[in-house]
Amino acid sequence: MSVEVRLDHIVKAFDTTVAVNDVSLEIKEGELFFLLGPSGCGKTTCLRILAGFYEPDSGTLMFGEREMSRVPPNKRNTGMVFQNYALWPHMTVFENVEYGLSLRKIDKEVRKEKVHEVLEVVQMPEYADRPVNKLSGGQQQRIALARALVVEPDVLLLDEPLSNLDAKLRLEMRQEIKRIHSQVGATAVYVTHDQQEAIHLADRMAIMRDGSIIQVGTPREIYRFPTNPFVASFIGETNFISGKIQSLSNGTAEIETEIGILRSTTIYHDFTNGEAVTCCIRPESIHFDEATAEGTSNRMSAKVLNATYLGRIEEYHLALADELTVKAVLYNPRTHGKNAGDTLSISVSADDVIPLPVAVNLPINRDSRNGTDLTGAEEPYSDEEERENL
Ligand code: ATP
Repeated sequence: MSVEVRLDHIVKAFDTTVAVNDVSLEIKEGELFFLLGPSGCGKTTCLRILAGFYEPDSGTLMFGEREMSRVPPNKRNTGMVFQNYALWPHMTVFENVEYGLSLRKIDKEVRKEKVHEVLEVVQMPEYADRPVNKLSGGQQQRIALARALVVEPDVLLLDEPLSNLDAKLRLEMRQEIKRIHSQVGATAVYVTHDQQEAIHLADRMAIMRDGSIIQVGTPREIYRFPTNPFVASFIGETNFISGKIQSLSNGTAEIETEIGILRSTTIYHDFTNGEAVTCCIRPESIHFDEATAEGTSNRMSAKVLNATYLGRIEEYHLALADELTVKAVLYNPRTHGKNAGDTLSISVSADDVIPLPVAVNLPINRDSRNGTDLTGAEEPYSDEEERENL
């Protein structure tokens, strides 16, 4: 019931806007895969191509061994969860979940059994007879998931499924999606611009920008080894310090910067001596003297600009030079913190200094000849129409 999904050089343009530009991806069977990127980067268009709501202009889409590029939505066996749930408000929970099975002409008794099974999975069996407009947002989202899962989809598609929930419920439902995904094991493609959600849930993710894939990897790979400053700043917070490679030997780089030499042992680009780089240093890898990490090899002095106590952490803005400020985070701040104006000694392990190439040819695919004039562009479907077509 789950398949590998392969996109091969997929292109989709709307009039002058290239929404998806030569995207190739392999999503493994059973994987919870995220498409992540800033607004307008093409995530939803990719998802709609997977669902069959849009046909690609060129390229190939495969579900396992089946070519899907031009197969209509209702012949793909996908289940989709929409941002606004797209449930029928006056139907009961049972009727909403049953709908996809009725369309597939499944026998009435089997339908009943399957609906009850899936309501167990989303932990809503006692709500079967309630109209969905008498459910909370979180409960509606569970029913939307149940409706997508009941057809035993080969591919489950989730379009920002948690964005309408309040912060607390979003965290709860994250856990639920993880649990449900591991229980049903479907290949799932999840679109969001919420990087925390992606880091929390994804087996792997693709970072998109301007219609192109910039990097694919596990959350750890993307966070620890971003390929360029765009990814580093999109996923998590980061400080950038400009420099130039002074020497490279035995897996260690010495980088000349305005605050002196920074040593790095996390080198995964082919740099040459003299090359300009941007050093990426995460706020949590800056240690104050009393919390110096083992193996630390970069020490510097810093002046506190401001400190904010946040309970679990304390956030600092530190000046390292006249024009260079960085953010640092102190975990479990027990004692009275530092004050603005204090000078302190900080350190960063060479493992946590990540030099990235400066001159990255980030693809800019938008054809901006006509600005935002999208006259003649394909009309987007509404969620309701899409729901009917699945
Ligand atoms: P968001 O996070 O804001 O939903 P997104 O990453 O999902 O954004 P898409 O909705 O895929 O981005 O849009 C990618 C680009 O294609 C945008 O510039 C958008 O304006 C354009 N676009 C999307 N759908 C259409 C359409 N039906 N007609 C014209 N242009 C479109």
